[in-house]
Amino acid sequence: MLFKLKNSESRILLIILSVIFASSSIIYAQKYDYKHIADSVLNYSLSERAGYKWLRELCNIGPRLSGTDNYQKATDWAVQKFTEIGCDSVWLQTVKVPFWVRGEKESAEIVSPEKAAGRKLSIASLGGSIGTNGILKAKVIEVSNFDDVKNLSPSEAKGKILFFNEPFDQSEPTTFRSYGKAVRQRGNGAIEAAKLGGVAALVRSVTSKPDNVPHVGMMRYADSVMQVPAAAIGVEDADYLSSLLKSNPDVEVSIEMDCSPMGEADSYNIIAQVNGSEFPDEVIVVGGHFDSWDKGHGAHDDGAPCIQTMEVLHQIKVLNLKPKRTIRCVLFANEESGLRGAVEYGKYAETAKEKHYAAIESDRGVFTPRGFNIDADSMVIAEMQAWLPYLNKLKIDWIRKGSSGADISRIKNTKALIGYVPDDQRYFDFHHSANDVYQSVNAREMQYGTAAITLLAYLISQEGLK
Ligand SMILES: [Zn+2]
Repeated sequence: MLFKLKNSESRILLIILSVIFASSSIIYAQKYDYKHIADSVLNYSLSERAGYKWLRELCNIGPRLSGTDNYQKATDWAVQKFTEIGCDSVWLQTVKVPFWVRGEKESAEIVSPEKAAGRKLSIASLGGSIGTNGILKAKVIEVSNFDDVKNLSPSEAKGKILFFNEPFDQSEPTTFRSYGKAVRQRGNGAIEAAKLGGVAALVRSVTSKPDNVPHVGMMRYADSVMQVPAAAIGVEDADYLSSLLKSNPDVEVSIEMDCSPMGEADSYNIIAQVNGSEFPDEVIVVGGHFDSWDKGHGAHDDGAPCIQTMEVLHQIKVLNLKPKRTIRCVLFANEESGLRGAVEYGKYAETAKEKHYAAIESDRGVFTPRGFNIDADSMVIAEMQAWLPYLNKLKIDWIRKGSSGADISRIKNTKALIGYVPDDQRYFDFHHSANDVYQSVNAREMQYGTAAITLLAYLISQEGLK
């Protein structure tokens, strides 16, 4: 009797059951309708431009050289943003970083030949360099390809300024390859100069842009070799100096720099997350490095890319996407002059109870999206390639094996380390120079990238990886 239903009652039960079934399948379909989610993420990203607005605020603080007050102010700003986003947790990880001060004096000019005397040269001290301790005056010897420094003898170079003038190879289709070749002279120029008895290194700016703005960056010393000052010179002035040397090999230049390494300072990795609903202990990291060089605003390198990854959390919250796995944003300290933030986070990741499932880094500027480089097994890469139909809408053309990024490289045992790859043709026009300002960022290009990174993080969170 209990299970016998009248006709009317069974009809009602049938209706109730079919409503439950229909609504659950709608929820199911909505939850996994990535095409629709891709549209929503892109629409929100382009129309609201939240990250691009934040970039103006961040750039107004100024550049974020490691260990400076500006980095601290930017840290406070990021913590406030993460709090406003409504993250489940926000915390700082203390990192000891090298502290270097540029100083007030930074100039160079031609001393002889007479016809060129007094002509100023556009220079900037390289990061980590010692100063000149007053005005340094010396003859100049040019090295037009960094490999040629091996052919110089101490008798030719002793007491001279070594002028490393290897150009950025414009014939390379990929600018990162040209950068990789030419940047050796910036990193090692001072060491090679000192080995030959040289008194300073003057390094042609490593840039794709033929202007006269010096592009800075890190240089190194070696324990066994004397330290000599090192500065970058604008490309136009490098060409001028080179042509002057051709007509007069006794060109003399004076340089004055009062920069100085000042030991170490406290800095921070800034970390925030939205907890996963099903697998909260499986963490997907998104991030970039929050420090920058001190010329310009550090907009493309790496302020705007950091903001793209901050906005991943924002979009997850405002679009109510409810990730199954935890999505964590890490803004790494000190990539530019030591990678200390990455090392510190790597140590934490090794001992943490949670599993670092995957990581996505954005550190190649914020130009139009192109693809994702994946450091993972081919099975995992193939699995992600199957998501391309969703990502194509966000201007992601490809997903392929490749190197991910410096900061996430210290996170071990993940299923995938991923580097976001936007178009690279203009990046080195701005990189490490006064050209890298808020005004150099295109809002639409930046926001397209934000949408692409958000969708990829979400797909990994929902679908998992083999
Ligand atoms: Zn960078």
